[in-house]
Amino acid sequence: MKTYDIIVIGAGPAGISAAIAAKKEGIDNLIILDREDNLGGILNQCIHDGFGMDTFKENITGPEYAERLIDIVKTLNIGYKTKTTVLNIDRDNIVTAVNGIDGVFRIRGKALIYAAGARENGNLKGDINRNKCAGIYTAGTVQRFVNVEGYVTGKNAIILGSNNLGLIMAGRLVIEGIHVKAIIEPEKNILGLEKNFMNWVKPFDIPVKLGYDIIGIEGTKRITGVTIIKVDINHRRQEGTEKFIACDNLILASKLIPETEIISKLGVSMCKKNNEPKVDETLQTNISGIFVCGNALHINEFADSVAKEGNIAGINAAKYIKFDGSVF
Ligand SMILES: Cc1cc2nc3c(=O)[nH]c(=O)nc-3n(C[C@H](O)[C@H](O)[C@H](O)COP(=O)(O)OP(=O)(O)OC[C@H]3O[C@@H](n4cnc5c(N)ncnc54)[C@H](O)[C@@H]3O)c2cc1C
Repeated sequence: MKTYDIIVIGAGPAGISAAIAAKKEGIDNLIILDREDNLGGILNQCIHDGFGMDTFKENITGPEYAERLIDIVKTLNIGYKTKTTVLNIDRDNIVTAVNGIDGVFRIRGKALIYAAGARENGNLKGDINRNKCAGIYTAGTVQRFVNVEGYVTGKNAIILGSNNLGLIMAGRLVIEGIHVKAIIEPEKNILGLEKNFMNWVKPFDIPVKLGYDIIGIEGTKRITGVTIIKVDINHRRQEGTEKFIACDNLILASKLIPETEIISKLGVSMCKKNNEPKVDETLQTNISGIFVCGNALHINEFADSVAKEGNIAGINAAKYIKFDGSVF
């Protein structure tokens, strides 16, 4: 079995920045693994601008940000495998992964940097059966369909949730010719940034229904509409305010949560309150030699802060290798 000094899991801005930092600290024997076709992580589907003000002192798009990091990976000759899904990490730091060329394979990392990003949590409440018909998507999936793969999700959309992803996708869908009938938000205020509302919602006159929630989904094969209801500040339903809105796709713009399944199975300690991995100031977990950074650690609003965190993890993982397990 091949042993690397450092294996980086995840090639978003966190993982790439960690690998670059470790390489600059003198670690040559390292590899990045990612399940996607290309390096860059979620940046590749964020085609709007608003990235890079801190790191590159320029307002660039997500793919441009990714490209700049990838250029550095190539210049520094850092090894990577894409289309490679990590299935498991065991206690001896053995990573089991699979891809179309190597099949299932196992490699060992003296240190591991876990930078697997985040997943969407879903925000349909209560007893709504979300699996009964087609046409219900998470906003991240829609962002990928529309921005990367060139598909639209239907003709008449409802978006549940007004976080940044919900606001940005509302405008993107209108640009692609979809009628966005409403953004439904149970809170009394919009959750995303003002600038995203001003850039992506207001210019298209997309109605935002604050203080409303979805309580029913109609449709058999495909969604035909949703029932909304007014809710108070404690999210209690105001009976008698129900209203049906016809739609053929429903987009769930929900909270992101760190993607921690593989490391929690391994025994990495998690905070009880929010299920985020516990790390020390070097970003090392309770398991010696396992570092976590980026959205896998906690949800970051900006790629620049994710990149900074990756840098810290990379420097400390490199110290761990150079000084035999000591990072101080
Ligand atoms: C809609 C939206 C708008 C945003 N707008 C801005 C903005 O304007 N400005 C800004 O600075 N930031 C913005 N961000 C935030 C920024 O994009 C993210 O915080 C950042 O990209 C997260 O980086 P990451 O490396 O932690 O995770 P990701 O970029 O998600 O990378 C994680 C990588 O891990 C890989 N992975 C996961 N599990 C496995 C596995 N088991 N095996 C192999 N690979 C795996 C994934 O394929 C992925 O490539 C936005 C984010 C979104 C979603």
